[in-house]
Amino acid sequence: MKETKSRKRQREKHGRPQNMASSSSKIKKSSSDFLDKMRARLSGGHFRMINEKLYTCTGDEALNYFKEDPSLFDMYHTGYQEQMSHWPEQPVNIIIQWLKAHSSSLVVADFGCGDARLAKNVKNKVFSFDLVSNDPSVIACDMSNTPLDASSVDVAVFCLSLMGTNFPSYLEEAHRVLKPSGRLLIAEVKSRFDPNTGGADPKMFSKAISDLGFTSILKDFSNKMFVLLYFQKKEKENSTRKGIEWPELKPCLYKRR
Ligand code: SAH
Repeated sequence: MKETKSRKRQREKHGRPQNMASSSSKIKKSSSDFLDKMRARLSGGHFRMINEKLYTCTGDEALNYFKEDPSLFDMYHTGYQEQMSHWPEQPVNIIIQWLKAHSSSLVVADFGCGDARLAKNVKNKVFSFDLVSNDPSVIACDMSNTPLDASSVDVAVFCLSLMGTNFPSYLEEAHRVLKPSGRLLIAEVKSRFDPNTGGADPKMFSKAISDLGFTSILKDFSNKMFVLLYFQKKEKENSTRKGIEWPELKPCLYKRR
């Protein structure tokens, strides 16, 4: 059969180029770039899905979710570290600095410790809690119910970890395990405390924590990405503890990059 003119033109246009070696390595390179991009996009998608889940369920549900498939935890933390790498400053480092500026004899509870960076960077005794433990030093539990004794720690840390819809129960647990005058250090995503964009009123949040039995000692809104809210546990139990009005904390959903 005779080749039509248009087919001949097509063959000439798309046919094999002269320099086969360099073009096939170019094709290999671009297909591996493509696969890398696909993998990054898929893992980014998985991260965002797990992240949304953690912000929209209770701690109890989150614990069961990770128990069913602990590999989701690594997937979450790979995506989390990727997001954090775009932040000019990491809040966990500010808390590490705070601890280093205070006595290393202070006993610390790190609620929602992630990769336990805090414990690895200070001399203090640190109890690290998270939903999954790949590291023997991390205690796997829902942090609304830790195995710590009442009034047993000097510092309770929540670094970007007030995720569950039942977050007040995490703060109640921190209040239970803290000694009188113990410190509660909270670092949270700034947009969650911006009432102009649907975030909580920081005054209402602080008032709720005060009603739980704390005094505010620091409110720092100077960082672009996160707020720092530090409190001290009151010596005496609060009579206002019942019927505390907690604001809703909206989820922090990361955009596709
Ligand atoms: N504090 C760490 C990790 C922050 S990511 C840091 O600053 O690097 C938030 C962590 O909180 C996640 O690892 C998540 O698994 C944990 N978390 C969320 N809800 C939890 C719960 N109910 N109990 C225990 N850990 C929880």
